[in-house]
Amino acid sequence: MDLLELIIEFHKDNERQGPGSEEATLKALKLIPYLNEKTKILDIGCGSGGQTITLAKNTAAQITAVDMLPQFLEMLMKKAKENNLINRIVAEEMLMDNLTFEKNSFDVIWSEGAIYNIGFENGLYLWRKYLKDNGFIAVSEISWLTDTRPEEIQQYWVNAYQEIDTIENKLSVIEKCGYTSVAHFVLDYKCWIDNYYQPILERSEAFLKKYDYADEVKEFVEAGKIEADMYNRFKDYYSYVFYIAKKK
Ligand code: SAM
Repeated sequence: MDLLELIIEFHKDNERQGPGSEEATLKALKLIPYLNEKTKILDIGCGSGGQTITLAKNTAAQITAVDMLPQFLEMLMKKAKENNLINRIVAEEMLMDNLTFEKNSFDVIWSEGAIYNIGFENGLYLWRKYLKDNGFIAVSEISWLTDTRPEEIQQYWVNAYQEIDTIENKLSVIEKCGYTSVAHFVLDYKCWIDNYYQPILERSEAFLKKYDYADEVKEFVEAGKIEADMYNRFKDYYSYVFYIAKKK
């Protein structure tokens, strides 16, 4: 089993594939004005659609949700069906750095815990053209909460994601990429533990058993445990931050 297959199998049945919460999605949504039935939202790196369903339930908008993994999109459409939302959600298998939409197509671009896959600056730069004039972007991105931090956590995250940076520097990147920052807020402990690490840790033993404790599965599960442990020990120094900005 390769790593991608493990990721799919381990995460597809989870409500979310990254830290976040319905409350955080709604808080960001409230910062975006003029949403109505003509509004077009693009949800990039939607995963199994935790936030997509929240967006659909709490707006009258038309939502296009994209992800590179069809297995996650299938889960999203299952939920859309269960919630009677299939007439307002379209799921498309697409790479986030090779989107095939017309320019100026969307009023809002949404992306939770996903832009890091192509880099924050690159994503903001590439996605801007798909927004209509005065359109909004709402994106969550891992960020340092303090100017300094212990070496152990610095090394860990820089190895995992070179672009991790302070909120101040992330706000500068937003401006540089052609947006005006509207607001930002830090995702809380619940987003990380209750909604992300806890469900993962609870599933670990059964997952290991299912694959007969194969070495690659043990390694995969262990990496998740280390990440959760890092968060528990160093949560004062980093978090996902939701950034809401308007196209200049
Ligand atoms: N937004 C969801 C959430 O918060 O639960 C999913 C977040 S998950 C950490 C990141 C998602 O980005 C995954 O669903 C993954 O399949 C998708 N992804 C990663 N790289 C991608 C790429 N290059 N193009 C499209 N989707 C990608």
